[in-house]
Amino acid sequence: MKAFIMVLFTATALFSERLQVVASMPDLADIAAKIGGDAVNVITLATGKEDLHSVPARPAFLPKLNKADLLLTLGLDAEHAWLPALVKEARNSRICEGGPGWIDCSHGIEILGIPQKLDRSEGEQHPDGNPHYNIGPQCGEIIAINIQKVFANALPSKAELFEKNKNDYCLKIKELISELREKGKSLNGIKIVEYHPDLIYLSHFYGMKIVGTIEPKAGISPSAAHLKKLQKQAKESKVVAVIYNQSQNRRLPEKMANSIGCKPIQIANAVGAKKEISSWIDLQKYNLRKLLEGIAGVQMYE
Ligand SMILES: [Zn+2]
Repeated sequence: MKAFIMVLFTATALFSERLQVVASMPDLADIAAKIGGDAVNVITLATGKEDLHSVPARPAFLPKLNKADLLLTLGLDAEHAWLPALVKEARNSRICEGGPGWIDCSHGIEILGIPQKLDRSEGEQHPDGNPHYNIGPQCGEIIAINIQKVFANALPSKAELFEKNKNDYCLKIKELISELREKGKSLNGIKIVEYHPDLIYLSHFYGMKIVGTIEPKAGISPSAAHLKKLQKQAKESKVVAVIYNQSQNRRLPEKMANSIGCKPIQIANAVGAKKEISSWIDLQKYNLRKLLEGIAGVQMYE
């Protein structure tokens, strides 16, 4: 009888087991929650308001990381400056970089902006290619599939649930993509300037052409000479918007837009960047709305 009760207890414990998941940033946390449902507990480290390359390492992160089964990251060195050291401090070898629980969600994404020469000199933040794929609508499905596979592997008893949730969510993404493509048609071919090199996936999706970047290299402050050259190039190319996000200082993009004679447009770089952006799908809709509002009334084609 005692043995039977033990078996029952073990079965119940397994049945109620949930994966403890930490996401480096809220877009991954949102998608993970959609896929994991009741079988996972998900939290995010970054709030969505910060620059994803430099999230302040809060002490409250440590116990969360210590208990995590899985750590979801954007990868491509996006979190290089803050996450690996933090995980080391959390004393959880499972989720250390290279460990079985450190998950790189960029797997299978068509990586854009791969530098011809690998170089982290002067603090280059994108040595392995551009990591800002979270704001590219085309990347959501792959992130969802990656997370589903990882969850199914870590908790096989819930594999069917993860598969179903992933399929449901990917259907919503397909609907989203059709809506964005239809509503965002007028963005096709417009010329833009970005602040940090973080718009390559978004531009690729809508067909926007990035004429130049205020930062000469990711994370590097521009010189006066660089800004002057960019201004000239942008005017000649008929740039219609200088685009930045809420984590960036608005002064430079506003000044650049002013000097070119176009508009500065502030978009969001992550879920949680603004109160109304509570999901990855919201983020995509928000950014399209801001882009369309920003170019409204602008003569876009030569
Ligand atoms: Zn970056």
